[in-house]
Amino acid sequence: MSITRKWSNKQLRAIEILIRLKRLYPDAKCSLTYETPVQLLVATILSAQCTDERVNQVTPELFRRFPDALSLAKADLSEIETLVRSTGFYRNKAKNIQAACQMMVEKFDRQPPKRMELLLELPGVARKTANVVLAHAYGINQGVTVDTHVKRLSYRLGLTEHTDPTKIEKDLMRLLPQEDWENWSIRLIYHGRAVCKARKPDCAACQLSELCPSAIVVSSASG
Ligand code: SF4
Repeated sequence: MSITRKWSNKQLRAIEILIRLKRLYPDAKCSLTYETPVQLLVATILSAQCTDERVNQVTPELFRRFPDALSLAKADLSEIETLVRSTGFYRNKAKNIQAACQMMVEKFDRQPPKRMELLLELPGVARKTANVVLAHAYGINQGVTVDTHVKRLSYRLGLTEHTDPTKIEKDLMRLLPQEDWENWSIRLIYHGRAVCKARKPDCAACQLSELCPSAIVVSSASG
C-alpha cells in the first residue's frame, strides 16, 4: 500500500508513529526483571537470541546466587553456565558475563560505566546492550536500541532501507528527537510482539497502517 502525500515526509511520519505508539502503549517499560544496573546488563546479555520471558525465568536464581558484579566475577564459571543454560549460547554468554563483571570490578567501581564508549569495552556488550543499560538503568538516551523487533518494524515502516543494526540506528537517530530514542524502541518492541509479528503482521488491526508503506490491506469487495 502506498502512503498518502500527507505522510510522504519521513520525519513527520516518524514523529506521528511515535505519538501513536505512546498512545497505544502508555506504560511500556523494559520487560527484563532486574534490580540493579549490573543485573540489567547481565539480563540484556542473556536476552541475545532469546525471549525476555525465558531470561526472566533464569535470572531470579542467578541473581539469588550471584547478586552483583563481584560475586559473578568470582563465581565458578560452570555454575553460571548451568544457571543460564536454557537461554541458549550459554557457554559464550556465561563467559562474557563473568569477563564483563571482572572488568567492572577492576576498572569501573563494580558498576556498568555511564558512557557508551566505556560500556562497549565490556566483553559481550555491543550497542544494543549499551543502549538498554544507559536508558533504563541511568535514564541516558545516547542511541536507539535496535533489537529484532525494532529492526523489522523500522524497515517495514519505511524509515530505513538498511538491515545492519548500526546503520538502522543512525537512520532512526536522525529522524527522532533524542529524548524519545528509548521511547521509540520500547514501544516498537511492544507493537512487534502484539501486532506486527515477524511471520504474520496484522495490518487490518494495526493503528499505524495509514503510515506504513508495507501495510497489506485485504479488500472486502471480493466477498
Ligand atoms: S501496517 Fe502491517 S506491516 Fe505496517 S506496522 Fe502495521 S502490522 Fe506492521
